[in-house]
Amino acid sequence: MYVSRLLLESLRSPRPRSCKQGIAASPQVSLRYFIHTFGCQMNAHDSERMAEVLRTHGATQASTLEDADLIVFNTCSVREKAEQKLRSEVGKLLPLKRARPDLVIAIAGCVAQQEGERLLKSIRHVDLVIGPDNLAELPALVVAHQAGAPPAVRTVFDLDNPEFLQAAPEPGTVPASVLVTTMKGCDERCSFCIVPTTRGPERYRPSSAIVDEIAQWVAAGALEVTLLGQTVDSYRDPCLAPPSSDDPDETQFPTLLRLIASKVPGLARLRYTSPHPRHATESLARTHGDLDVLAHHVHLPVQSGSDRVLRRMIRRYTRQEYIERTTRLRRFRPGLTLSTDIIVGFAGETDQDFAETLSLIAEIGFTSLFAFKYSPRPGTPALRLGDDVPEAVKSERLARLFELSEAQQRAHLQSLVGTTQTVLIEGPSKSGNMVQGRTQRNEIVHIGEARHLAHLAHGLVEVRIERANKHSLVAYSVANSETKPHRFLPLLQERQS
Ligand code: SF4
Repeated sequence: MYVSRLLLESLRSPRPRSCKQGIAASPQVSLRYFIHTFGCQMNAHDSERMAEVLRTHGATQASTLEDADLIVFNTCSVREKAEQKLRSEVGKLLPLKRARPDLVIAIAGCVAQQEGERLLKSIRHVDLVIGPDNLAELPALVVAHQAGAPPAVRTVFDLDNPEFLQAAPEPGTVPASVLVTTMKGCDERCSFCIVPTTRGPERYRPSSAIVDEIAQWVAAGALEVTLLGQTVDSYRDPCLAPPSSDDPDETQFPTLLRLIASKVPGLARLRYTSPHPRHATESLARTHGDLDVLAHHVHLPVQSGSDRVLRRMIRRYTRQEYIERTTRLRRFRPGLTLSTDIIVGFAGETDQDFAETLSLIAEIGFTSLFAFKYSPRPGTPALRLGDDVPEAVKSERLARLFELSEAQQRAHLQSLVGTTQTVLIEGPSKSGNMVQGRTQRNEIVHIGEARHLAHLAHGLVEVRIERANKHSLVAYSVANSETKPHRFLPLLQERQS
């Protein structure tokens, strides 16, 4: 496959450490765009940056798909379902395209990178196929297409001069919590995963650019930043000398966290996702102990509790190492909560392997988790291992796993009833008469009597937890409580002063 060959060639080259930040120059476009996003946080974040690129070049957002002149599907190929859904959604556009031949349909993201030219051949009404590293070129490709250029594929990794689209926060419009990219690509070779093929090798953003973007978000009103990377804790600053081979720190991620904390004191909360357990070093654990701004929660994907399965997945840590690393994180930051990702029914997973996953979930005491049934993906090394766990067994294991994790989550949430928590408000809850936010440890909290909170578009408040739901907590406004006066703490201002 062309992309794989390109990737292999790139991996044989020295790791790109460019300190330069390239931005493609593009012409103005006058159109209405609609972006449909599939998949992970990374894709959601790419879609936001793509929208910014289009707006910067004169485009405006369409309110519906039918109103748009450009429809972009930002795709995910990690799970089979997302890819099937993409094909079905694009298929539905055929009548619209026939009625409006000038409508531009683009497929971006991981499926675009993986399938390239094949997408143009298999879905004839698609005009553009654009990989995750080429999003900044979208306006130019659209202009060329509107001027009569044939359907085009642009899926080239920016290995020499990695480009990170810089956000442009507008004061008054920013959410409480934002994502900031620190790196792209992945150098791990997990046997089930297509990401190293679709996103390329690891490339890192200079720490100065990361700090600068965070400072801009905070100045515009954001309170919380989540650092984003496929293996976010493997970060190395391309503008610094790499750590020496005998440096126990191994990565420069803890240094980055400390730099952000010192350079952006107005930041209320800092999170990161997703770390790889291999890089959860002692230095990272120590940083959790030292920095109050770091959330007391880590989402650390484990995938399985069985060493045999972990080896087949090429995860490069053992169950025991995972336990030691999480224990160390909690030693430096007592009370830290952990969540994780689990794949159920991976090739060759026996009842015993699955029992070990359940026992690990109980031993670590994850407070929440994401779990999925294994589905082999084209182009991944695990394809040769087959898919020998019957669908019914996968479903049964998934149900047992959720039963355990939900019981743990319920018990954890119940233990917080009656406590006082600092909540970072993110906005109104779905019901409309409450606001919703998260604690330091990532528990979701719905705060009642929203009229008392109306002046807080988002902010940090201290509340008393009144009740636990299945997946969240309820905290009534303390002002209405007989037991304690209401306390909206201007915590952020205190921290800033
Ligand atoms: S660490 Fe493994 S699972 Fe995560 S993106 Fe890289 S290869 Fe995929």
